[in-house]
Amino acid sequence: MTTISASEEQRILDQVPKQLYIGGEWRDGAKGELAVEDPATGETLCEVADGSTDDAKAALDAAVAAGPEFATMAPRDRGEILRKAFELVSARADELALLMTLEMGKPLAESKAEITYGAEFLRWFSEQAVRIDGRYAVAPNGQGRLLTMKQPVGPCLLITPWNFPLAMGTRKVGPAIAAGCTMVVKPAQQTPLSMLMLAKILEEAGLPGGVVNLITASSSSETMGPLIADPRLRKLSFTGSTEIGRKLMEQASENLLRLSMELGGNAPFIVFDDADVDDAVQGALIAKMRNVGEACTAANRFHVSSKVADQFAEKLAEKIGAMKVGRGTEENVEVGPLIDDKQRTKVAELVEDAVGRGAHALVGGHTRDGAGYFYDPTVLADVPDGADLLTEEIFGPVAPVKGFEDEDEAVAAANDTEFGLVAYVYTSDLKRALRVVEQLQTGMVGLNQGMVSNAAAPFGGIKQSGFGREGGPEGIEEYLETKYVAVNL
Ligand code: NAP
Repeated sequence: MTTISASEEQRILDQVPKQLYIGGEWRDGAKGELAVEDPATGETLCEVADGSTDDAKAALDAAVAAGPEFATMAPRDRGEILRKAFELVSARADELALLMTLEMGKPLAESKAEITYGAEFLRWFSEQAVRIDGRYAVAPNGQGRLLTMKQPVGPCLLITPWNFPLAMGTRKVGPAIAAGCTMVVKPAQQTPLSMLMLAKILEEAGLPGGVVNLITASSSSETMGPLIADPRLRKLSFTGSTEIGRKLMEQASENLLRLSMELGGNAPFIVFDDADVDDAVQGALIAKMRNVGEACTAANRFHVSSKVADQFAEKLAEKIGAMKVGRGTEENVEVGPLIDDKQRTKVAELVEDAVGRGAHALVGGHTRDGAGYFYDPTVLADVPDGADLLTEEIFGPVAPVKGFEDEDEAVAAANDTEFGLVAYVYTSDLKRALRVVEQLQTGMVGLNQGMVSNAAAPFGGIKQSGFGREGGPEGIEEYLETKYVAVNL
């Protein structure tokens, strides 16, 4: 890979439609424009439409109007549109990856991996569209017949975060289209460009106007609040912080909306002394450093058997310390900037707190001077109980390592959190692996691997990490209602 030129960057930015997409039309936002920043420089990349409450209402009007006809479109035709969109995204993977790096900051290779991952939801759900079925059963008394059918839930509101600008959208848009739902999509204001490109691609793929409506806005509460209160909306799918998720759930209770909540995480990464330490370090690098540590699935704390904790921490520090930090468009860069100054300050404060309590940095531990929101990749050893980063989501390139004495202590430490998204376990003992996996209070577990994300698998959490599943056969169920018909024979 060679460093990308400024003119190439501009060419990619110029391709992005910057308006709102409502009822199949691109139009200006009533509140003017909203700046999108490059987190590696702090400079404005471009401006996109700033939608108002009326714009959001128009988007829901369009989704409601398009609903009945789209719900009856042949499943095969819905699937073919998704398949075409998958092909278009895949064909433009390099350009979409550059766009993602510009708005979100992660290195190009990682953006490319997200494009592949995000596109896979379009392909997976193109295949699921034709597998929506029902049941026919004889009533237990033999008299009547029990018929069940699946129908689209109706107009949906899909709200996505900035950390995976495309995949968090396709995880929702894919199954919603496959199920026959229409929708309003609101990407995070920091990273709207990837989703704007997806809307353009879906249009090119033949999606009828009004099925996907996209609102970009500087005030999410002002624009989204009235939609959540609108009785025509039937479902809210949200990916973001637990704090905002709770608020939205409260608002959604008024209309008893169907909900999917993909919220924050605090993933434990457990390494037993029977594990292959080099494999565990390799898995740790992925679980920690993917997405510059800004992933809900990021390993937040490393619980390592005291017999191998020093060895593990030193090897991890060596690898992490060797990673090249810089703008994601530059050659060989492996760690980009954090999304903004607020996020970087939070990471710095968590590290200061841990060090103040007795942890010591084997590598890193500092904010980088200069433009952009860079933070040094960091490994902290001997992290004591009570350090804030053991209980809070770090969302940055910081790996705290803490020792444990036995299996019970490891499991108790792993479960000692309000979150329950994912956990990682490294062990070569099969019995121990299954014993521990069964006790972990999470929706997902990576067993001897540092990544769980897969379009064909049900992604989601328990406890304060939310509920609902995205991907896999389960993913489409979030957008379907079951209707039961009592048949008199
Ligand atoms: P966030 O602040 O909760 O925002 C997420 C989305 O919600 C953004 O589009 C945001 O819009 C919007 N939003 C904020 N306040 C709102 C309101 N009052 N009404 C309606 N919409 C509102 O989260 P984030 O900082 O973007 O993302 C990071 C969080 O997402 C982390 O906690 C991470 O763990 C979680 N996450 C979870 C998963 C998962 O699958 N479990 C996946 C990825 C990320 P604005 O941009 O305008 O603020």
